[in-house]
Amino acid sequence: MSKRLRNSEVCADCSVSDPRWASVNRGVLVCDECCSVHRSLGRHSSQVRHLTHTPWPPTQLQMVQTLYNNGANSIWEHTLLDPASVMSGKRKANPQDKVHPNKADFIRAKYQMLAFVHRMPCRDDDSCTAKDLSKQLHSSVRTGNLETCLRLLSLGAQANFFHPEKGNTPLHVAAKAGQVSQAELLTVYGADPGAPDTSGYTPIDYARQAGHHDLADRLVEIQYELTDRLAFYLCGRKPDHKNGEHFVIPQLADRNISVDLSELAKAAKKKLQSLSNHLFEELAMDVYDEVDRRETDAVWLATQNHSTLVTETTVVPFLPVNPEYSSMRNQGRQKLARFNAHEFATLVIDILSDAKRRQLGNSVTSPRVDNVELILKSVGSCSVDDRQDNDQPDYDSVASDEDGDLDPASGKTDRAKSLDSDLSDSPVSVQEFQEVKNALAASEAKIQQLLKVNSNLSDELRHMQKKTTKQTSIPDGDYDNTVNDAELEDSGAARRGRLRSSGWLGETGSMADLDDPEAESDGSLPSTEDVIRKTEQITKNIQELLRAAQENKHDSFVPCSERIHVAVSEMAALFPKKPRSDTVRGALRLLTSSAQRLQSECRKAAPLPESGPGQTLGPDMQLVTQQVIQCAYDIAKAAKQLVTITTKENNN
Ligand code: ZN
Repeated sequence: MSKRLRNSEVCADCSVSDPRWASVNRGVLVCDECCSVHRSLGRHSSQVRHLTHTPWPPTQLQMVQTLYNNGANSIWEHTLLDPASVMSGKRKANPQDKVHPNKADFIRAKYQMLAFVHRMPCRDDDSCTAKDLSKQLHSSVRTGNLETCLRLLSLGAQANFFHPEKGNTPLHVAAKAGQVSQAELLTVYGADPGAPDTSGYTPIDYARQAGHHDLADRLVEIQYELTDRLAFYLCGRKPDHKNGEHFVIPQLADRNISVDLSELAKAAKKKLQSLSNHLFEELAMDVYDEVDRRETDAVWLATQNHSTLVTETTVVPFLPVNPEYSSMRNQGRQKLARFNAHEFATLVIDILSDAKRRQLGNSVTSPRVDNVELILKSVGSCSVDDRQDNDQPDYDSVASDEDGDLDPASGKTDRAKSLDSDLSDSPVSVQEFQEVKNALAASEAKIQQLLKVNSNLSDELRHMQKKTTKQTSIPDGDYDNTVNDAELEDSGAARRGRLRSSGWLGETGSMADLDDPEAESDGSLPSTEDVIRKTEQITKNIQELLRAAQENKHDSFVPCSERIHVAVSEMAALFPKKPRSDTVRGALRLLTSSAQRLQSECRKAAPLPESGPGQTLGPDMQLVTQQVIQCAYDIAKAAKQLVTITTKENNN
């Protein structure tokens, strides 16, 4: 099937032609700019996939195509079609509108507030409405009328509704009728392919009994969507469910590299095994969302050209707040972004191993429900009236405050005000809390600015450099979106001769040994100017690496990563070997371990030397590239942290 749809398509939100992304749960196609806003709302609002750069299950793409072609967008813009709203000045976004605030405001109103959805007249009687809508859904899924079902779901019909008289769910009905697209839509909205009817049969059983074997196989696949996606993220392979293989547990090639995990990663690992199934499910779902965020960032970076890279719409720095989760859980979700690529890979593997262990345990005691417990029916769940789990304790026992959630759109946190008020009892929590506190207080806002786009960094650094020489403080968000590589090159060359001798390790310099007890430790930080200069050098090399990634020049990976490694070594050498501040230590550790990991990832992209027999399979370049990009971001993030800290300290 052709993955490209017709060329006459326009963005559902702003009407720009040739949209390249789809929102799976909304059944619309959107342009790059609008997609960036969709992403900032979170997957509970909109699940975006790139039309050509994301691998699609064919039947899911078919479902989205059908919805799009049948005008699903009018569900979300119903009241805008009313002439009265035109008179009142309400309108959708235009191609010429700015992303912020115009397109963003419209998109939030449209999908988050559902401001233009048609409301049912009997809205005040909740029980009647929800049940009626769900019953309508139950009977509609028998037919091919997809947009009717999407409309019902948008109004609050429940995908997992158990019909009291019929004794089964809408997915049973769709499966029996062989309605493939309806089944796709229902599962996107959280329907469970393993839910038993009154006789104990699942939708998968129904599909098989009716002879819809492809649909039955697909439903099995959907049941394992969470663990499959995690495995695929790391090794590019999914289990072969048809042959009874349900888990793939990848091994990290660089497990033996001595990269010490942060306290955060260690704590997460320790907690994992002691979690109840319910909390484990939540953690696994959160990690799934984080995998999606990281993959989509990588797709984004791989599909943008350089002029659009220099915008403020580039990446989503951490998982957006889901208002249906407790603030503790939201904080835990956001912390996942702070795992570097290696730590995150380790966490994913630990989750996969534990998922397998738990499932095997379950099937011994209760073979009938073996898939139900773990296979996380609500992975794709995004219904407007989703189930509430708010009073469940979080998998992460970090103390919480109500307003501590970060807002990726603004990059603000008001966590600080109650930081000291509520420390939890557990020693791990206190430690971890302290770590979060340090990291946040010192640099969260800065990190986000950095993550917006790497190119901005160089530019900002130049501003900062000018200002620091004048003894003034760092500008906040004072960006000029032009990057002139020639200029960077020149200034870099001019400065190369003036490196502080204490900071120079030579061309083959090794990493600073941060834990050497013999090391001299006066604890004083280097000059801001030096740190900025080194960061600039790192940034320039990262830009080159990103360019190589976008142009599929895999040969350039290794030389780029070596230059980055050298620059990182030089940067690390500027700092005292035993820095007093935890934040500095953490940032240095992230910087150096990510540079190491970057090198090992880049080597995977190098052409194999004469490989022995049986070694015919090359690495999956897309996966390698994704890891490379993530390591590069970790490095950029750490460098930026160091700049921020140094500037702050030296100005005090
Ligand atoms: Zn658009």
